[in-house]
Amino acid sequence: MTIEFKTPEAIEKQLQPVRTVAENVMRPESRHIDDHEHLRPLKFVHMMWPQVRQMELANLEAGLARAHKSTNGDSQNGDSQPSNGLVSKSGSERAGIANLSLVHMIEMLSWGDAGVYLCIPGSALGGAAINAVGTPQQLERFLRRFTEGDPKWGAMAMTEPQAGSDTSNIQTTATFDAQSNEWVLNGQKIFCTSGKMALEESDGLVVVWATVDKSAGRAGMKPFVVEAGTPGAIIAKVEEKLGIRASDTATIILDNCRVPAENLLGDAEVKTGHGNKGFKGAMKTFDATRPIVAASAIGVGRAAFEYTRDLLAKTGVRMEYDKPRWKLSTVQADLLEMEAQLHAAWLLTLKATALLDAKQENQLDSSMCKVKAGKAVTWVTQKAVELLGPLGYTTELLVEKWMRDAKINDIYEGTGQINTLIVARTILGYTRTQLK
Ligand SMILES: Cc1cc2nc3c(=O)[nH]c(=O)nc-3n(C[C@H](O)[C@H](O)[C@H](O)COP(=O)(O)OP(=O)(O)OC[C@H]3O[C@@H](n4cnc5c(N)ncnc54)[C@H](O)[C@@H]3O)c2cc1C
Repeated sequence: MTIEFKTPEAIEKQLQPVRTVAENVMRPESRHIDDHEHLRPLKFVHMMWPQVRQMELANLEAGLARAHKSTNGDSQNGDSQPSNGLVSKSGSERAGIANLSLVHMIEMLSWGDAGVYLCIPGSALGGAAINAVGTPQQLERFLRRFTEGDPKWGAMAMTEPQAGSDTSNIQTTATFDAQSNEWVLNGQKIFCTSGKMALEESDGLVVVWATVDKSAGRAGMKPFVVEAGTPGAIIAKVEEKLGIRASDTATIILDNCRVPAENLLGDAEVKTGHGNKGFKGAMKTFDATRPIVAASAIGVGRAAFEYTRDLLAKTGVRMEYDKPRWKLSTVQADLLEMEAQLHAAWLLTLKATALLDAKQENQLDSSMCKVKAGKAVTWVTQKAVELLGPLGYTTELLVEKWMRDAKINDIYEGTGQINTLIVARTILGYTRTQLK
């Protein structure tokens, strides 16, 4: 595998309109949307939807090809689809530079506005789980909707009050009712991105993780598709947050929520070890989505860095690459460090993504880039506020907002600490129980 450090021409071309959207549609709305937390950036949503539908269609076709292959006896390989709004979606089958192109786009959109980017409709993480383990019939039933009609959202609900990093502690139960041939879900899911838009504001869906056998730990955990309008799936709360305030983050109560037997993704049987492909397949999707989160972090960091650099340049503080560090002012050295941190995170992200495009194992690189980008963006945006002094702290500039938008990248899709654990386990060859 060769790694190309220059952005491929095809991606440069794709990025031009994305840059225009980020600059002219997202940025001008940034402050207003942030100030009105539960307002939807509808103009942006409708503008992006036709493009998302096309990507969803390509993704569905790739997913169907894989699912048919799997149904015909070929083993399922847990091949994962990046999926996140617009994003869904590259699909390894379309290979080449699909994931690379995706992370470039997400970086640019998040440079525009990370919260607004998260409002892009699409099957998102829910779609990724369906794609990873669904049958051809399930793919048709659940994902076709994202290729037609009005904007729709998909979501994934794993986290619970007692189960965040420790996903094996999920308390939501799924009990099979043989008489009605339905699964009955009971429990509470919290912090579900786009949960309200998926269940109440569109004909979307949420993939809910529940246990069919608490004593079996992870092996008992299964994903169930809960469609919009299903009785017993109730949006109890929408969070008010520090950052990414445009993004909807919902609490979902499942109160005797009945879904057809066919809404279980994968096998109902509780299998441990290598047989537990459902859970492992879904976890595999994180190898594809963590570089996406890293790219989003880097976009926010770049916004803060560039703004700070340009504003300081107007006062005569310029970046000087050709001077030794001891001849630079502290502020100049800080600017260089900000840029270097973002570059380091971006290179790790490109490596994780290049491996994904080459269909090679990337769990280590995927966690590494997520850890690095989460830390880098948190530090860079705080530094930007620091360097701009009181002005950076006011709402006159977007710098304080970027600082607030940054931190989430170090929390969701595995916190910085959890991804550091994954890196350590992988390098040292420890199992989950040996190093926790
Ligand atoms: C805005 C937002 C959107 C989200 N979207 C979704 C979503 O769409 N779907 C979904 O299912 N979840 C979502 N989440 C939940 C998110 O994935 C969890 O918050 C995250 O996994 C951490 O879990 P927790 O909050 O329970 O924290 P905990 O697991 O309770 O962790 C608390 C702290 O302890 C640290 N910690 C925990 N275990 C260890 C360990 N073994 N070693 C060292 N440190 C440790 C953590 O890193 C963290 O700093 C979202 C969260 C937010 C804030």
